[in-house]
Amino acid sequence: TNFWAGVPQGPPDPILGVTDAFKKDTAKNKVNLGVGAYRDEQGKPYVLESVLQAEDILHKKKLDKEYLPITGEIEFVRLSAELAYGKDSKPLTENRIAVAQSISGTGALRIATEFLAKYYPGPKSVYLPDPTWGNHIPLVEGTGMKVVRYRYFDKKTIGLDFAGMKEDLEKAEPGSIILLHACAQNPSGIDPTKEQWKEINEVIKSKKHLALFDMAYQGFASGDLIGDAFAPRYFVEQGHQIILCQSFAKNLGLYGERAGTFSMVCSSPEEKERVLSQVKRVIRPLYSSPPLHGAQLVATILGTPELFEQWLKEVKKMADRIISMREKLYNALVELKTPGEWGHIKSQIGMFSFTGMTADQVSDLAEYAHVYLTKDGRISMAGLNEGNIQYFAESMSKAVK
Ligand code: PMP
Repeated sequence: TNFWAGVPQGPPDPILGVTDAFKKDTAKNKVNLGVGAYRDEQGKPYVLESVLQAEDILHKKKLDKEYLPITGEIEFVRLSAELAYGKDSKPLTENRIAVAQSISGTGALRIATEFLAKYYPGPKSVYLPDPTWGNHIPLVEGTGMKVVRYRYFDKKTIGLDFAGMKEDLEKAEPGSIILLHACAQNPSGIDPTKEQWKEINEVIKSKKHLALFDMAYQGFASGDLIGDAFAPRYFVEQGHQIILCQSFAKNLGLYGERAGTFSMVCSSPEEKERVLSQVKRVIRPLYSSPPLHGAQLVATILGTPELFEQWLKEVKKMADRIISMREKLYNALVELKTPGEWGHIKSQIGMFSFTGMTADQVSDLAEYAHVYLTKDGRISMAGLNEGNIQYFAESMSKAVK
């Protein structure tokens, strides 16, 4: 018996599909600006020196490969929470943050959405910014909760639609779940200012919404781990019981190791224990317990002062290289007299730039210049380097003209 004749072909993943098209292209000068992974000056994947050193340390220790507890490696979980919330964070010192290791940021979001679908007492609507990381939508819908969008990006200014965002959060049913990108919003590269975050905090507080922070780029956005954690830390100071999804994919370059955490601020240590008991029941049937190696690497780096210092330098180096590529791209576009205003390329932050290019211009770039990016005109800044930036600027300029 063939059981699967009725399985329809699924659509290709919009981001990974770009990489497939890139791989098929045989041109020498091809450029891949699709996938959000850091590349060094030579366009190569980059393993951080601090990670290599941590691997040496772990290798020498000859640790066993026993299962981790359901909520993960204990030092990893402790140090990760300190990194995200700050050592002096009140709920952390009061032992009332529930933290569990997760399969990177995606897995943290998965725990969050599963937990919310089961236990959230308010309306089961999750407000996502428009645009947002594509995976947020199935992550929410898969649990049966409803996706609602709030305005975020203003096409006209290629900036934040702050008035629209605030209005939508005001209008949302009280107690809604609001997903916020902690920093380096993906895909727009546009973040609220500190003052705007304070206003967003006021709206969320007055409407008794729940803030769900997705923090995939701490340190990677500006090179400053504390500065990039401003929004979630400020919300916690203001008394919000936030949920935080933390990823070490970008800032430690641990993409495939899948290291991250899910955490939730509770009102007491006792409540934290109850929450954790249910988080375990979410995790157990999903994957039993999390992977070992990435967590051990992170714990070694965060827990060894010299490696931590080394890492700080490396995150800054990655962030600075991206910032310098923004400068260069902007200057080249202006020099080439590219029609339009390109200041946003410099003011945007993080891995991506939302260029404002149309879907037609994107497909022209692939067809005529062998340059690949997502249809929404988003480019991964890390794919640019001294060797290809002029070529890219010229190709982009032509596509826009
Ligand atoms: N959230 C956002 C906004 C992201 O951009 C990403 C990575 N592209 C993630 C979450 C999750 O990444 P990972 O699961 O690799 O940590």
